[in-house]
Amino acid sequence: MQKTKTYLSETVMNLKPSGIRRFFDLAASMEGVISLGVGEPDFVTSWSVREACILSLEQGYTSYTANAGLLELREEISRYLARNFQILYDPNSEIVVTVGASQALDLALRAIINPGDEVIVVEPSFVSYAPLVSLAGGVPVFVQTDGKQEFKLQPEQIEKTITSRTKAMILCSPNNPTGTVLNRRELEAISAIVQKYDLIVISDEIYAELAYDEPYTSFPSIPHMQERTILVNGFSKGFAMTGWRLGFIAAPKEFAQAILKIHQYAMMCAPTMAQYGAIEALKNGESDVEEMKKSYRRRRNYFVQSLNELGLSCHLPGGAFYAFPSIQSTGLTSEQFAERLLMEEKVAVVPGNVFGQSGEGYIRCSYASSMEQLQEAIRRMKRFLERL
Ligand code: PLP
Repeated sequence: MQKTKTYLSETVMNLKPSGIRRFFDLAASMEGVISLGVGEPDFVTSWSVREACILSLEQGYTSYTANAGLLELREEISRYLARNFQILYDPNSEIVVTVGASQALDLALRAIINPGDEVIVVEPSFVSYAPLVSLAGGVPVFVQTDGKQEFKLQPEQIEKTITSRTKAMILCSPNNPTGTVLNRRELEAISAIVQKYDLIVISDEIYAELAYDEPYTSFPSIPHMQERTILVNGFSKGFAMTGWRLGFIAAPKEFAQAILKIHQYAMMCAPTMAQYGAIEALKNGESDVEEMKKSYRRRRNYFVQSLNELGLSCHLPGGAFYAFPSIQSTGLTSEQFAERLLMEEKVAVVPGNVFGQSGEGYIRCSYASSMEQLQEAIRRMKRFLERL
């Protein structure tokens, strides 16, 4: 067929493929690679959760659920949010079960953006945020954070980017890729700006279960923030359920019902069997989460200390399972460092620049790998650095 016109959307054509993929593909084609590249738990989902899913299939629960998800699951989510984060949501009207936090983010953005609205994205950031803003017709506006301040978002930085078109801001704590956690005091300072400029906050708390050093503060628990926050969370990380594709949104009724409208047309509902598994995860899974958390914490302490001993300076990340060390002392760019480390020592990490401009000079290493693998990765990195 001779091409006389372009069939693809301009927005889609302008999207860059995820920089993480390129390294995955390269690493997958090689033997003996230690991958610190993937952002997922190395645990298998708890047996009781898998069993609840199997039981639901045995009982023949294979139809659609309500668009918003099984009421029993929404009730469990509501109890979970109250118990762990001290925030109250009505399971009948303020919670929507989604296909992962990924779909929750997409829905949240599509529900609030009018063409040209600006959405603040804090860098370094999870790779989906800016593309999802663009796909929803908005304009991502980037705020840079600084490694010297452990990548903590500074309220005055937000203020500098605000224009008459600024509609919302995406917050992510614990953060992917930096592991940085914002504490209550820091979130309160941000909330003052949010209120002053009448912003909506999409708070991505997918790593909330994995905060190691201080009690976790959920953004909507800050006074006056619940009314303007769309909370995104899910089962992938804390409950080791990435492949189940299950997340949720909790938000004031006005937002949740707008989100539900899109969800019912775009997706109908999240997978039924996964929802049965999730009910069990919330009812009885917290001791397993606690065990996994202890294990990540041990590995974080070992891995971050070892990176610092190698001369790759790294702040102690308060949450998630990522270390984000500086590689500036090597004189290489992030891409050069990651590519050479993979080719010469078969260790896969993600170059920091794929997470935005302020990630240049850093690499993301996931420590959700066995202790033996982490120790071997450190040995190989040591050899690599000695040769440089
Ligand atoms: N948000 C952040 C910050 C993430 O790191 C990820 C996955 O890596 C997601 C959302 C997506 O999670 P899910 O598997 O629930 O779609």
